[in-house]
Amino acid sequence: MVWRRVRNRREDSTEPGDPLVRARERMVAEQIEARGLTDPDLLRAFRAVPRHRFVDSAEPYADEALPLPAGQTISQPYVVALMTDAARPPGGWRGAKVLEIGTGSGYQAAILAELGAEVISVERHAELSEEAGRRLADAGYEAVLLVVGDGTKGWPAGAPYDAIIVTAAGPSVPQPLLQQLSEEGGRLAMPVGERRHQQLNVVERRGSELISSRRDPVVFVPLIGEYGFGE
Ligand code: SAH
Repeated sequence: MVWRRVRNRREDSTEPGDPLVRARERMVAEQIEARGLTDPDLLRAFRAVPRHRFVDSAEPYADEALPLPAGQTISQPYVVALMTDAARPPGGWRGAKVLEIGTGSGYQAAILAELGAEVISVERHAELSEEAGRRLADAGYEAVLLVVGDGTKGWPAGAPYDAIIVTAAGPSVPQPLLQQLSEEGGRLAMPVGERRHQQLNVVERRGSELISSRRDPVVFVPLIGEYGFGE
């Protein structure tokens, strides 16, 4: 497989005075940095990715989750940043192999691609995956590999992964995902809990050892599949 990053966002201005550039600056400063996430690479990626291309909203940079088709949601920018920060692999993002479960709009995948990761993203709704593919290409992220299927089984063909980010909530971390995590400090971030409220769980794998921690309370749409919730 060939991995290639295409960076030709011709229509997206990077001029400091551009209103969208300023909206992203504000989003990063007020919603992400002010709440304690300070990794410079992370902040740079959130400044760079044109979120307005992934959501149809008059206020794409607002401090809120926004609706997607098929009853799904794109997380609030801070929550995307929190998940990304939590899953940062030991060697950093550049060249890391990352599996995302729940492509949704493609925004989280774009953030990971912007960070320099090789991204594989699995979505159970084919229409959402197709739309995300169009939006990722429009924004210049053509190297993200999109897969349609039940992401609770992971994607064994690409394993092992340096990081796995599950952007839907399940009752527990699916066993296949733990198996597909790199034994050399691979990190997984996933909301775990009940259907209506969860806690961000982070798992780090060292050999056969799994080190888990529970972090912030979060609310995500349900992960539906063999190792997730029922329909
Ligand atoms: N990361 C997305 C937001 C995801 S919302 C973004 O940046 O926009 C959660 C997504 O997970 C939804 O699109 C939902 O359809 C998907 N999903 C739920 N269960 C899934 C499963 N078992 N496999 C793959 N995708 C799943």
